[in-house]
Amino acid sequence: MSDTNLSLSQLEQKQDFVRRHIGPGEAEMASMLETVGASSLDDLIQQTVPAAIRLPQPLKLGESQTETEALANLKAMAKKNKIFRSHIGMGYHDTLTPNVILRNVLENPGWYTAYTPYQPEIAQGRLQALLNFQQMTIDLTGLPLASASLLDEGTAAAEAMALAKRVSKNKKANLFFIADDVHPQTINVVQTRAEMFGFETLVAPADEATQHDLFGALLQYPGTTGAITHLETLIKDLQANKTVVTVAADIMSLVLLKSPGEMGADAVLGSAQRFGVPMGYGGPHAAFFATRDEHKRSLPGRIIGVSQDTRGKPALRMALQTREQHIRREKANSNICTAQVLLANMASFYAVYHGPKGLKTIASRIHRMTDILATGLKQKGLALLNSTWFDTITVKVDNKDEIVKRALAAEVNLRTDLDGMLGVSLDETTTRADIAKLFDIFLGEGHGLEVAKLDAAITTEGSHSIPLELLRTTDILTHEVFNSYHSETEMLRYIKSLEDKDLALNHSMISLGSCTMKLNATAEMIPVTWPEFGKLHPFAPVDQAQGYQEMINELSDALIEITGYDNLSMQPNSGAQGEYAGLIAIRKYHESRGDAHRNICLIPSSAHGTNPASAQMIGYKVVVVDCDKNGNVDLADLKAKAAEMAENLACIMVTYPSTHGVYEETIKQVCDIVHEHGGQVYMDGANMNAQVGLTSPGHIGSDVSHLNLHKTFCIPHGGGGPGMGPIGVKSHLAPFLPNHPVVAIDVTGRDNGAVSAAPWGSASILPISYMYIKMMGGEGLKKATEVAILNANYVAKRLTGHFPVLYKGRNDRVAHECIIDLRDLKEASGVTEMDVAKRLNDYGFHAPTMSFPVAGTLMIEPTESEAKAELDRFCDAMISIREEIAKVESGEWNDTDNPLHNAPHTLDDICDESWNRSYSRTLAAYPADAVRRNKFWPTVNRIDDVFGDRNLVCSCPATDTYR
Ligand SMILES: *Cc1c(COP(=O)(O)O)cnc(C)c1O
Repeated sequence: MSDTNLSLSQLEQKQDFVRRHIGPGEAEMASMLETVGASSLDDLIQQTVPAAIRLPQPLKLGESQTETEALANLKAMAKKNKIFRSHIGMGYHDTLTPNVILRNVLENPGWYTAYTPYQPEIAQGRLQALLNFQQMTIDLTGLPLASASLLDEGTAAAEAMALAKRVSKNKKANLFFIADDVHPQTINVVQTRAEMFGFETLVAPADEATQHDLFGALLQYPGTTGAITHLETLIKDLQANKTVVTVAADIMSLVLLKSPGEMGADAVLGSAQRFGVPMGYGGPHAAFFATRDEHKRSLPGRIIGVSQDTRGKPALRMALQTREQHIRREKANSNICTAQVLLANMASFYAVYHGPKGLKTIASRIHRMTDILATGLKQKGLALLNSTWFDTITVKVDNKDEIVKRALAAEVNLRTDLDGMLGVSLDETTTRADIAKLFDIFLGEGHGLEVAKLDAAITTEGSHSIPLELLRTTDILTHEVFNSYHSETEMLRYIKSLEDKDLALNHSMISLGSCTMKLNATAEMIPVTWPEFGKLHPFAPVDQAQGYQEMINELSDALIEITGYDNLSMQPNSGAQGEYAGLIAIRKYHESRGDAHRNICLIPSSAHGTNPASAQMIGYKVVVVDCDKNGNVDLADLKAKAAEMAENLACIMVTYPSTHGVYEETIKQVCDIVHEHGGQVYMDGANMNAQVGLTSPGHIGSDVSHLNLHKTFCIPHGGGGPGMGPIGVKSHLAPFLPNHPVVAIDVTGRDNGAVSAAPWGSASILPISYMYIKMMGGEGLKKATEVAILNANYVAKRLTGHFPVLYKGRNDRVAHECIIDLRDLKEASGVTEMDVAKRLNDYGFHAPTMSFPVAGTLMIEPTESEAKAELDRFCDAMISIREEIAKVESGEWNDTDNPLHNAPHTLDDICDESWNRSYSRTLAAYPADAVRRNKFWPTVNRIDDVFGDRNLVCSCPATDTYR
């Protein structure tokens, strides 16, 4: 029928978002269905998904909205947020995101759609930005070894406690000390973690720490109420008692202050938020973490290191990758996987753009403003709790209610949680007018104070609010990178030069199995940088955050509908954090029933490494369940182990569809067996992209799951974070969901501890998932799942005959991903999965997931967003690579002089005068015609992993090294 004959509603339906999100059009789908041998999408789904787990009715999520509608509706909701001037502090400060960074990093798909840099040859840009982050951390903290971001300050402090326990020589001690001037949310997150590890904690004034037998201590610098204390003697005394000392520090204050590293601290951590990352009602932000060299094997999170490529050129990579969680499993240091790469990059660019001088000016101005505010208030007779400060003062008041009322009327938020006192923190956005307003608020009108006069008076008297001996005397950010890009043109080009080194979704498909690299639609991303979402402090009164609350509640309801659970917690900041929170709920549930002894966690051998790592974090003992030759959980083994351990069985952690890429027919039995023996079922929700609208964890019979909103629900990967890992639970687990010590969450038990620093985790990226669900509607979401399954089966079918597909389910179908087995080829030709992965770069593609869950294989997940043309380009590349392997097998090419072994090829190779290989430059760089039209050049040759780990360098090398 021609469009001119359609009704208005038919025409409008054709304009919805669903067909933009889903890659293949109707004609392509028809042709793909023919290839896979199914008569329709329905037919394919019936052949693939077991009938026993299919949902009886469609999702009740309403119709899809157009981009325009959904944006307008969300804008109306966002406007219900009231943007007050925030002086709350407590680790969150307003900041000025340099516009060149806002638009060219945060709002740029070249940066936000990249994956974790596991393929470093096509990721040198973000690896460089992360190395800059580490260098910045090293300079500011005064410690020599830094990691490339943790999730937030609270969890970083909890990681520091775990590190202290690992490295402390006081092996008998079980007590961790927390100074009482640590931010309250940090104390709470650490206490939650301590309880799970079975450590004792003590919160008391810092100077009492030496009276106790401790394995570790946590101090804050400056303290939560603002005071700056010289920590050197305390640290020395504690260390004399074999106590490992961690200092949580404010990054901006460190620009002016003597570093905790110089004062002897063993570890220093904090939030890098105020280096240009919006508060966003709690996140996402990067935490920094630094420690001593000798603790490098205990450092949580990823470290970027400098190594060299086959040409001897310096090249960056993730160092000590064998320590990554996928391999260490229950021996892992921590369960962190997704971190905060995009935000770490923003903070490091902020430091690059401002440089040491610019940062000093910013920090000094903040401090000067605080001096002026303090001087004025003291002049008028108000008493301060602290006599030293960087940017925060705590004012003793006897008319607190009255002052708070005036503040709210003036649209200003103060810190109000302290008895008889009010806290005020200033930041780089603070103006003279703000100070004048604060005088009015504290003193009432007619006080007569003038900012300019106070400023002048301080000039002559000098301020001693930072004790002289605590002023920084060492240089920071002396490396060239922090002293070169201070004009906007230079900065713009620097950012672009790094972006150009990286392959992201805006270049080609990234078919990483288990990671669901689907479209991150622009309309989903737009609201993230609306000030209505960006400028809210996480501890702002909830009545100022009505837009957020409405959005969070609606998203939560939608996710409950999708998962078949009863309740949901939005707090965990990553999938692994969700696992941790979900396991806490399970443990607390058992404890509440007098079953505290239950501590066995069954985990199939195919599980993601975070599963055993999380189980270990809550003190559970991991027992591995075998898989059969088809990749399914071995039911006999499960039955035997569940029965044998029934007395102490706590739970199973199972991924569905399994990481082997098949819908196991027996999943309901798996749940039943565990339940029969008194255990709970944790279903890892990373593979929800194969469930949405067709089945659900709740329907299958699971008790709790995390969702990776940065996989199935369109939050981009950001080069390795941010993410969100909310957990859904059945009602019996709801009383054990995380709460928050500063902002109460009403759906859960009041005394429950927090797992993240902010009450709703990284709230400012939730609009992405919200927009996705609204624009897809119930039908659209189901269609997305179906097409994800179609795309995976299409790839599996096209590659069959060239490579063996390792596991298949009913009717020889795969789920939303498939594993191809390279082990026999390796045996026959010597060509490794690594060679294939790197050769794919020459063809313009990112490699699929390598050697997970089975060594020597590639796991391909195309997602629904890839069109047939792109799937064909990818399959053609794989088939062409297979033909290349054949030439190595047949001896036409020898073991090393072949394009697989030497992949990826760089311009340095192609321009090398002495090219003398047995294959041509053209074959090296343009292995397929499609490549000529859209060539991506890896910027370094294959990187030497062993060299990098033997010579660990995690700071910026001197610039000469590059010459
Ligand atoms: C990605 C993933 C996780 C971990 O999620 P993060 O957000 O990276 O912490 C856990 N399990 C599976 C199967 C995954 O694919």
